[in-house]
Amino acid sequence: MGSAWRWQLSRSMRLVLRWCRQQRGGRGGGSRTQISSRLLELWSYSKLLLHSLCYNSLADSDTLLDCVFEPIIWIVDSLTRWFGVAFVCLVVLLTSSVVIIVYLFVIPTIISTYPVHWAAWHLSCGHWLLLMITFHYYKATTTSPGHPPKNKLNTPSVSICKKCVTPKPPRTHHCSICNVCVLKMDHHCPWLNNCVGHFNHRYFFSFCLYMTLGCIYCSISSWEMFLEAYNAVEDLC
Ligand SMILES: [Zn+2]
Ligand SMILES: [Zn+2]
Repeated sequence: MGSAWRWQLSRSMRLVLRWCRQQRGGRGGGSRTQISSRLLELWSYSKLLLHSLCYNSLADSDTLLDCVFEPIIWIVDSLTRWFGVAFVCLVVLLTSSVVIIVYLFVIPTIISTYPVHWAAWHLSCGHWLLLMITFHYYKATTTSPGHPPKNKLNTPSVSICKKCVTPKPPRTHHCSICNVCVLKMDHHCPWLNNCVGHFNHRYFFSFCLYMTLGCIYCSISSWEMFLEAYNAVEDLC
């Protein structure tokens, strides 16, 4: 009886020890090291993949800054492109409103107040300025500012445009709003919704000049009316 009990005890002890050994062997040592080595391998592979995707021998802090600010630049450019259309409508609307006011109030006053030769001079001068403003604005808006020739290899150039990957002749700049290189670029004008460059610079300059003259003419010719209206308001107060 005693020996049978001892035999049973030693047998169960042996079984427990074997299970423990198996558990240690199965869960602890081998598998854990395998998982950690697999994870390390995956990590180093991901690092290598990222490095190979981002590697560029020309990359520097400027390129990094460009990449960081690229979304902001894209939003500003898109908004300016959209604002260009709105600004052109605003120019047409404001100029038309001034012309309508002149036709409705200023011209009848001039005709009724001034002698014939002065009225004729006013009419000719006013219409000449209106014609010049309209013509130069239309031409400045619709004329292409000029772009570097695409298929000519012997173009004298000073650098290469990074965006278009084409040679840039002297005084050529890339317009990020039009997304094209512009010859003798002055600036991108939102009021024209166009770049001011080699071929439309004179139209832009003439438009600015005639618009200034037109403003001065309107201010001088309606000065009496303005004073009258101002005094009337003052008297009411
Ligand atoms: Zn370009
Ligand atoms: Zn432009």
